[in-house]
Amino acid sequence: CGIVGYIGNEDTKEILLKGLEKLEYRGYDSAGIAVRSEDMNVFKVKGRIANLREAVDESVHATTGIGHTRWATHGEPSETNAHPHQSSTGRFTLVHNGVIENFEELKRDYLEGVNFASETDTEVIVQLIEKFALESGNTLEAFRKTVSLLHGSYALAVLDSENPDEIFVAKNKSPLLVGLGEDFNVVASDSMAMLQVTDQFVELMDEEVVIVKQDNVELQKLDGTTVEREPFTAEIDA
Ligand code: GLU
Repeated sequence: CGIVGYIGNEDTKEILLKGLEKLEYRGYDSAGIAVRSEDMNVFKVKGRIANLREAVDESVHATTGIGHTRWATHGEPSETNAHPHQSSTGRFTLVHNGVIENFEELKRDYLEGVNFASETDTEVIVQLIEKFALESGNTLEAFRKTVSLLHGSYALAVLDSENPDEIFVAKNKSPLLVGLGEDFNVVASDSMAMLQVTDQFVELMDEEVVIVKQDNVELQKLDGTTVEREPFTAEIDA
C-alpha cells in the first residue's frame, strides 16, 4: 500500500498513476486518485492500477492531486471502501495508509449523526477534519486537532476544496516523504514512486504537519512551531 501526491503545473493524473504503479510491489487490493480541476474528481476501483487507468477520465485536466493503493484492514476491498475518501459535504478529500485504532471512539465522541459512506477506519479522519474546520474556520487548525486525536499508524494526504493551493500531510509510524521540484512538489510513501520527477526528498517525522504548496513546503510540529530539515538525494534504484 502507498500514497502519492502532486501539486504543480503538469497533468497530475499521469504522474499519480505512474507513482502508484511504482508502489505496486507493496501489494494492494484497490486503488484511487483524486484530482482537482474546477471540481474534485475522484476515481477509484477494486483491483489493479491498470483498471484504475481505464476508469480515469482522460479529458480531466488537473495539476493537483492525491493517490492511494489500499491494503484493506477495516471494510472489505471494494470500490466504496477504496480511497480517496471524502467528507460529508465533499469539501475534504483524503488518502490514508495505516490503521486508526481508536476510530470507533472518535466516531462516538465527535461524529454523532454523521452519515458514513464507507466501512473504513479512514473515513473518521476526513469527517473529523470537516467538523473541526466548520467549527474553527481554519483548515490547518482542524487538521492539527484531528491528527492529535488519532491513535495508530498513518500516512495522510488531504485536499481542501476551499484551499486549493495546498496539500496537508502528516504521518505516524508509517513512512512518508515530501519530494521537491522546481515548480512543483510531491508526496510519496517511497521515493521510488516519485523518482520520475525528482530525486530531492525531505523525510517527515511523527507528530509533524506539513503544508505542501507548489512553490513551498512548510514543516511544523503539532504546536505550530516551524521545523527545518535539509533534503537528501534519493538513489536511482539499481
Ligand atoms: N485502514 C485503512 C483501510 O482499511 C487503510 C489501509 C491501507 O493502509 O491501505 O482502508
